[in-house]
Amino acid sequence: MLPALVYRTLRTARPKCLHKFAWNFGVKGLVSVEKFKRRIRRGEYFPPFLYLSILNSCNLRCQGCWVDVEAERHELDLDVLNRTIEGAKAQGNSFFGILGGEPFMHSQLMDLLAAHPDCYFQVFTNGQFITEKVASRLAAMGNVTPLISIEGRDLTSDERRGNKDVLNRTLRGLDHCLKAGLLTGVATSVCQTNIGELLTEGWLRELVSRGVHYVWYHTYRPVGPKMNPALALRPEQLVEVRKFVVEMRSRVPIAIIDAYYDHRGQALCPMSTGISHHVGPTGGIEPCPIIQFAAENIRDPRGIGITMRDSAFLKDFRELSARHTRGCVVLERPDLVKEIVVKHGARDTTLRGTAMAELDAMTPRFSQWLPGEEVPERHWMYRLSKKFWFSDFGAYRDTAQDAEGRARKLRQQLQPVPNGISSSTQP
Ligand code: SF4
Repeated sequence: MLPALVYRTLRTARPKCLHKFAWNFGVKGLVSVEKFKRRIRRGEYFPPFLYLSILNSCNLRCQGCWVDVEAERHELDLDVLNRTIEGAKAQGNSFFGILGGEPFMHSQLMDLLAAHPDCYFQVFTNGQFITEKVASRLAAMGNVTPLISIEGRDLTSDERRGNKDVLNRTLRGLDHCLKAGLLTGVATSVCQTNIGELLTEGWLRELVSRGVHYVWYHTYRPVGPKMNPALALRPEQLVEVRKFVVEMRSRVPIAIIDAYYDHRGQALCPMSTGISHHVGPTGGIEPCPIIQFAAENIRDPRGIGITMRDSAFLKDFRELSARHTRGCVVLERPDLVKEIVVKHGARDTTLRGTAMAELDAMTPRFSQWLPGEEVPERHWMYRLSKKFWFSDFGAYRDTAQDAEGRARKLRQQLQPVPNGISSSTQP
């Protein structure tokens, strides 16, 4: 798999894009994780991977979206973004995830990317604003990889994203990126309506023949003002996604990212391990994108380094959620999320102001932590890179939750029932 992937990447990506990926993300990215590990040994936390939602606006209306896409536009301006990135660079960071809303609707995105040639940006986008001109400007900078979200074939895409002709418009943007020689990825939030269409070897091979370099399979999280819990995957489907990813990593010449498992296949939460935290469109420093509460803001005059290092709110979130689960504390224990928010008097960072009511409306459900169903990495590259640079960094030393008890309950629920649907998804 690997020689074919490397060969086609070297043949299709622009040399400057390859150089920036190898140096700004590869070498400097690993150094930032090593610095992160050293900080942890000193009992200090600053995430090597910072995710910035630079605005709330978007042209689509996806099911299960937790962003205030219908609210008045809020953009983080270039000055506050540059200050934040400079502050993170001072901690040794070089990689940033750029989210929204739709980042290419932000009036200063290209200036932001151009202002930091020593960094590497992964832009989470629906691709619909990426014209040939935009794509060639990005390729000329080289320090950007567009991660383009595709949520289904034609009909499913329109349904999932609340608009018309969604897939074609997205594929146009994707092709512009590939034609410009950008390292380009495709992301999917796997759910009931697209698992049959996009969790297939056939779809991956289609992406390979189109020239796509990597994919990221998220799993649908029923959160936000329109949760659509019926779209969420059942435990046995979560295992199916994991098995598929591990198998395809050894077979199809395309890189496959995930953020929820270590090299042994043990579940983890990037927020609990502290490897990533999130900044919302109003500047709130949030534990992760779907925990829309904050006790601090990036406009804090102390600067982002000290503000995040000294945040009791973030510390409590990491430690308490790690104590209760290796999975997603939002899905499994919305009550615990509420408890921490109230304890720290954290603000609701949504413009709609209903984040607490949404937590109250959630039904606890299984997430990626399914003891007894671990699927270890098979391909040596993923095994090594996760072992050294994407583990749980010791976050689960005192996870109280008895994995055995939980595994027993899970096995009961994974018992095939006549109609093939598990009796419950509740942990
Ligand atoms: S809390 Fe859930 S959504 Fe947030 S980083 Fe952890 S696993 Fe992901």
